[in-house]
Amino acid sequence: MNAKNSIISSKVETYYQDYGARAKELKAQGKTIIGWVCSFVPLEIITAAGCVPFRIRGDVREPITKGDNLLEPIVCPFIRSCFDLSVKGRYDFLDGIAIPHACDSMTRSYSTWTYSLDFPYSHFINIPSVVKESSFEFFKGVLNTFRQTLGEFVGKPITDGAIAEAIKLHNENRDKAKALYEFKKADPPVISGVELSKVLTVGSSLPVTEANLLFDEVIEELKNRKESPRKKGPRIMIDGACLDNMELIKLIEDMGANVVADTLCNGTRDALPHADAGGDPLDALAHRYLDKVNCPKTYRDNKELDLQKDLEARFGDIGFFAREFKVDGSILYVYKYCDPFGFEVPARKAYYNSINIPHLYLEDEYTTGTIGQLKTRIQAFLEMIA
Ligand code: SF4
Repeated sequence: MNAKNSIISSKVETYYQDYGARAKELKAQGKTIIGWVCSFVPLEIITAAGCVPFRIRGDVREPITKGDNLLEPIVCPFIRSCFDLSVKGRYDFLDGIAIPHACDSMTRSYSTWTYSLDFPYSHFINIPSVVKESSFEFFKGVLNTFRQTLGEFVGKPITDGAIAEAIKLHNENRDKAKALYEFKKADPPVISGVELSKVLTVGSSLPVTEANLLFDEVIEELKNRKESPRKKGPRIMIDGACLDNMELIKLIEDMGANVVADTLCNGTRDALPHADAGGDPLDALAHRYLDKVNCPKTYRDNKELDLQKDLEARFGDIGFFAREFKVDGSILYVYKYCDPFGFEVPARKAYYNSINIPHLYLEDEYTTGTIGQLKTRIQAFLEMIA
């Protein structure tokens, strides 16, 4: 298949490079576009409102300039980059924004987003930080408020039926994302780490029905791929939070390794967990976002467990992906000032040691300026595990 016929090299690449191009077209056709950051925003409610959920990305190649006049520099560089691009007008097509109570960087910057940028609609989603029975009731109330305010904004109530239909569509999207990950199990993988991350990133900028069609086209292309774009090499997992620019993955793959698994917000954390279908749709969303999205911002009471069981309960997904994708080593990648992931680094390292997975911890800025240093450390790590 030549590049022209390849959906990955054509449509995905175009939408990745010109991120937001499709959302702008839809906006011109009268669609309402709601920007979101973080895996905790219940996209199903945005879809059920008839709006397009659009994931706001940062840009590691763009120096953060204007945003820092308005936002404290102790906010993580990923959020600062997203905000900086917004201040510079990159996301002027958004009709609204939804930011969850996830980490401090998001929570504390919400008022700055809404004060500095003139969004017709904005909403802060107050996600509980503790998982226990009463949290679900509380969270259902929060989801209901989100549903009501967004319904008022679009001028039409968001019904349970519409949310149930949106749950179905988003679950289909998760099934297709899982099917895409399956292509990483081969050695060498049928799809490169850069390719898959671009597909998922682009998918998060489209209406879910269009993302589903795109994923189907990519799956079809991969089924017919005669030759892997990769050679055999160390199989690497990336463990961390938000990684929406491909420079790190490209760097690793340019050194001959293959990125075959991740726990990223822009990867499996976001793309895989289902919401239960068939029951009360708000119950299903409350359980999906509170219980199934595995993020260190959520406290789970494991006091009864011994250390090893506690580690397994918190980080079992790492071990699961390491086994499923036959990972040789993992890169724990955390941005400076990312408090939830930063606090967990010692515990994550302890878990890696307990399952005998070699790991490299990298703390980084959100910029291409650090690529040289990263290269030296990753090179040494790859030599160590080879
Ligand atoms: S990188 Fe960390 S601090 Fe920044 S938005 Fe993500 S979870 Fe929050």
